[in-house]
Amino acid sequence: MVNFSEGKKRSLIASFMYMILSLFKISLGYKFSSLVIVADGIHNIADILTGFAVYIGLFFAEKYPSEKFPFGLYKAENLASLFIAFAIAYAGYEIIMEFLFSKQGKIFMPFLLITIELISAIVTYWLTRYLISTPGIKLDAINAEGVHAFQDALTSIAVIIGVLGEWFSIKYLPLIIGIGIGVYILYQSYQIGRDSILTLLDMGDEKMMENIKNIVSNIEGVIGVHEIKVRKAGPFYFASMHLEAPPALSVKDADKLADIVEEKLRRALPSLLYVSIHVEPGSYTGKWKLALLEDENDSLADEISKVKKIKILDTQNKNIESIINDINLKQGNMSIISSMLKEKGVNAIIYAGKEKLLSLKAYGIEVYHTSEKDEKKVIDLFKEGKLNAD
Ligand SMILES: [Zn+2]
Repeated sequence: MVNFSEGKKRSLIASFMYMILSLFKISLGYKFSSLVIVADGIHNIADILTGFAVYIGLFFAEKYPSEKFPFGLYKAENLASLFIAFAIAYAGYEIIMEFLFSKQGKIFMPFLLITIELISAIVTYWLTRYLISTPGIKLDAINAEGVHAFQDALTSIAVIIGVLGEWFSIKYLPLIIGIGIGVYILYQSYQIGRDSILTLLDMGDEKMMENIKNIVSNIEGVIGVHEIKVRKAGPFYFASMHLEAPPALSVKDADKLADIVEEKLRRALPSLLYVSIHVEPGSYTGKWKLALLEDENDSLADEISKVKKIKILDTQNKNIESIINDINLKQGNMSIISSMLKEKGVNAIIYAGKEKLLSLKAYGIEVYHTSEKDEKKVIDLFKEGKLNAD
């Protein structure tokens, strides 16, 4: 399961670190007249809020689905992120206004200010490692916070350059750095806001869809899968799909197949929380094992009593896999033969006679009828989808 408590703990620690950093930056920045440091301090307030949003999101995500919220409250994280995006945007706007319209005086204690930013760079770099190494399933929010902490470390380096500009009265340097930070924060709020809105609106996920398709189509017994729909809620994915199964499967076996699919998906994609599978009869796609009921002349038999051999072939490469000779089909041994064919993984048989061969169907083997007796032509007809099952 997802390690929510570890994620919560780490996002709180991140918030706490940013709190200390912004406190120092804003108070000392004001005291020693460095607008660049104040701006970075305001930026760190946005970081504190981000940490809290992640915490709140994980707090709700941890709650089990209830009668009132049958799909859980995972989207709380995305909703919280949306509010944070607005808060961050406001911080960016404030910083830009500050640089454009306030008068800059001479700064004091440049060494102290530079030291603070150096410490900030080290702390945020440590935070990057700390957040990204959170054990368990990758929580997107925590991961994004980690990536952002690295950007903060880079920002601190830029701020140091800005402080040097203030110190040596190179006016344009702090202006560029300051407005740069403001624009960067606006961009950050745009990204967070966009992602949360798209998730709240149930945008699909191309990559997850591809992953699901690859995993499901390689499961034995599955003919195909379509209508895969994926949506995201907090750190989790919800998916539904139409599973194409051999048409003759019993409801019981179809259910078993769906269970296998679900289990494999969950094991391979731990962030996939809900899987809803609709099973439907699939059409031939080229990976069936086919059995031909033939007479002694290697033609398809048109009567049960004429069946002397059963040829089993893989339709993908058309190679005859095995031939069972000395067949003597009667009412009494049909189920023994059916179970043997099932054992060999046969999905369908082709028969030129009229009998329904219900015993085979009971074993989940599809029965196709044809009037064509030539082995090769029959296989072609089958591959072209021109034969009909009972
Ligand atoms: Zn930041």
